[in-house]
Amino acid sequence: MTNSTHKSDVIILGAGINGSGIARELAMSGKTVTVIDKSTIGSGTSSKSSRLIHGGLRYLETLQFKLVHEALLDRQELLRIYPDLVKMRSFYIPIYKPSPRPAWMIWFGLKFYDLLSGKNKQHHSRVVSKKQFSVHAASFKQEGLKAVFHYYDAKTNDLQLTQRVAQDATENGANFYENTFISAITNNKEFFTVRTSQGDFTAPILINATGPWIDEVNSKFEFPAKFTIRKISGIHITVDGLLTNDLMFMQTKQKRIFFVIPEPNNNQTLIGTTEREETDLIDNIDVNEEDISYLIKNINNYLKPGFQILRQNVKDAFIGVRPLVAEAENPTNLSREYELDKHTFGNTTLLHVFGGKLTTYLSLARKVRKVLKINISYYK
Ligand SMILES: Cc1cc2nc3c(=O)[nH]c(=O)nc-3n(C[C@H](O)[C@H](O)[C@H](O)COP(=O)(O)OP(=O)(O)OC[C@H]3O[C@@H](n4cnc5c(N)ncnc54)[C@H](O)[C@@H]3O)c2cc1C
Repeated sequence: MTNSTHKSDVIILGAGINGSGIARELAMSGKTVTVIDKSTIGSGTSSKSSRLIHGGLRYLETLQFKLVHEALLDRQELLRIYPDLVKMRSFYIPIYKPSPRPAWMIWFGLKFYDLLSGKNKQHHSRVVSKKQFSVHAASFKQEGLKAVFHYYDAKTNDLQLTQRVAQDATENGANFYENTFISAITNNKEFFTVRTSQGDFTAPILINATGPWIDEVNSKFEFPAKFTIRKISGIHITVDGLLTNDLMFMQTKQKRIFFVIPEPNNNQTLIGTTEREETDLIDNIDVNEEDISYLIKNINNYLKPGFQILRQNVKDAFIGVRPLVAEAENPTNLSREYELDKHTFGNTTLLHVFGGKLTTYLSLARKVRKVLKINISYYK
């Protein structure tokens, strides 16, 4: 414990993709930025995702065109700025009988996705023959296969991406404090003082980017907030070997979707994800055996007998919690993909970041800068 006081223009709580992305954006705009995390960079939800940088094909079903389009613009930019970490990958959608969605509906969705993705015809979707699919996905059943579609989307390594964004922020002058416990936060209407295990930090702007922990942080420090979150967990399981060389977009009989994601770098396949509403504190939430069984059962519906997965084949299972935005007054009323909630006290500003996907952290960070009225003139 030191008694030093660190002054900066902005303090950000949380070094996930959103906190790190905002730090990068504000540091590049010439602000002095301090980021404080109770754990390590990217160790929260930002390392527990499906690792897709995507518009979200399934959001078209609920007519969220603007959301999909914005995310696809973010995808375009990420492909350009981190070409070694964000790459276009080949996806298959095999449609088996009985399909919970008609094949024509999925095909229509894919064509619309192409349209929203832009003019690059090289990455447009197409129909593939069952024979061609059997070559690419030898472990998948042929019986009951009605049609197969092929499309492209982007994939990353979520933890490495978050660490790289934090590194970019650091190179632009931001300071990250990991494994730092916050004991108190005060405000004298000129600046916030954040008291931590590494000393005191002061700044006139405090950004709360603690992802799924946001309600717990707001309650602990008695922060006002217009929104709350619904905590929807999702697990992934990993098995050794590559079940397929390409990513698979699968449907369960109950119309839910899951992905089969080959990870050739460590010769493993990732399968996920699930959805479970959680009520416990975030740090107490753990993988549920029922969710593991659910994934095994659903993938086995599509695998040939020699490739069936048993419980003992599951090498790892990890869980993340989606922070889905809800209105504070009516928590069941799910709001947009993310919300920025600003509160002013004298000359100080508190800004909460509710929600936000891995894919959209760039546009979210820009909106934060605009909401804070930070000038872009210093942008390097
Ligand atoms: C199963 C699953 C699959 C997903 N798949 C995708 C996908 O494929 N593509 C996509 O775009 N998005 C996906 N998402 C969404 C995406 O992963 C998250 O929305 C995103 O990572 C949230 O980032 P964040 O920075 O807001 O939160 P986090 O990454 O959780 O970061 C919050 C940080 O705050 C810190 N913190 C908490 N409390 C405190 C405190 N008191 N003091 C200091 N620090 C604190 C935590 O340690 C953590 O590091 C998925 C999410 C889940 C759960």
